[in-house]
Amino acid sequence: MTPEEAAEWVSRESSRCMFCGFCEAACPTLPLGPHRAYGPRGRVYLAGLAARRGELGAEGAAGIYSCLLCAACVERCPARIDIPGLVRAARMLLAEGYARAPGMVPVRVL
Ligand code: SF4
Ligand code: SF4
Repeated sequence: MTPEEAAEWVSRESSRCMFCGFCEAACPTLPLGPHRAYGPRGRVYLAGLAARRGELGAEGAAGIYSCLLCAACVERCPARIDIPGLVRAARMLLAEGYARAPGMVPVRVL
């Protein structure tokens, strides 16, 4: 998948989120982080943002990179959004963005 194809898929998939929050109770990293960017609903939003902008800043990127890709959230999602897939694609898009802007420092993680 090219970055352009990934960005298109991420935009489409993330736009299906209804912001219901049912996914959040299943996420092991949300209670450990300082805010909702460390949970699935926040990550869906951040992935969409990464697709549009190609960068998120350190705090947003930390939300994306702290995901364990365990997929526990997917079971709870009524829309069956591929949240781990969105996170993986967002990481690729961020890496592409960093490659284009070598002065940028990627992340701090949990
Ligand atoms: S895949 Fe990521 S967002 Fe989903 S439950 Fe696991 S750690 Fe949380
Ligand atoms: S459960 Fe699904 S639709 Fe609801 S907030 Fe989470 S990702 Fe979005």
